Amino acid sequence: MILKRPKLSFWERLYVPTLIGGIKVTLRHFFSKKVTMQYPEERWTVPEGYRGAPYLVKDQTGRTKCVSCQLCEFVCPPKAIRITPPGPVPNAETGNVEKRPREFEINMLRCIFCGLCQEVCPEEAIFLMKDYSLNGQSRREMVYDKEKLLALGGTHHDQIRKWEHKLKEAQVQDVFPVKERQG
Ligand code: SF4
Ligand code: SF4
Repeated sequence: MILKRPKLSFWERLYVPTLIGGIKVTLRHFFSKKVTMQYPEERWTVPEGYRGAPYLVKDQTGRTKCVSCQLCEFVCPPKAIRITPPGPVPNAETGNVEKRPREFEINMLRCIFCGLCQEVCPEEAIFLMKDYSLNGQSRREMVYDKEKLLALGGTHHDQIRKWEHKLKEAQVQDVFPVKERQG
C-alpha cells in the first residue's frame, strides 16, 4: 500500500504556527496552579477511612489486645502475617486472657493493605493505620515484629473491656487459671 504524503501549506512548511502552539501550551502550564508535590518535604493529606499499613494496638491499660487466635494469619491473601503462639500464660494481672502471641510478624513487602485482618479480628487488635510511606534498607527490615507493630499501633480505647468481665466471672466461679495463679 502506498500512502500519499499530505501536501503542506506555506505556513506549515515554516513550522511557525506549530511552534507558537507549543509555546502557548508551555505558558498556560507555567502560570497555572502547580499539582506536582515536592515529596517527601510535602506530604499528601490522607483522607478519612484510608487503609494503610496494619499495626497491632494495646488497650488503655497497656495490654496487648491480640489473643493469638490466628484468624488474621489464616485469611491474609498474600500470607504476610506470621504468628508464633502462644505467648506468656495467663495470670490475674492480664485479665484471664488465655493466649497472647509469642511473636507476631507482618511482612510489609507482601501486605496489600486489603484490610481483611482488621475485618476478621475478634478482639479489635489490629488496625489499618494511615501510614503509606514504608521504607527500609533490607528485606528483613520490612518484616515488622510484634514490638514494632505495637509501638506503631499505639493505644486503642477499648469500650467493652471484655477480659475484665471474664476475670470477674472467673473469680466468682473460682475457676482456672485465676485461682491457680493467685493461689
Ligand atoms: S492488610 Fe491484608 S495483606 Fe495486609 S496483613 Fe492484613 S490481611 Fe494481610
Ligand atoms: S490480631 Fe486479631 S485476628 Fe489476628 S491473631 Fe490477634 S486476635 Fe486473632
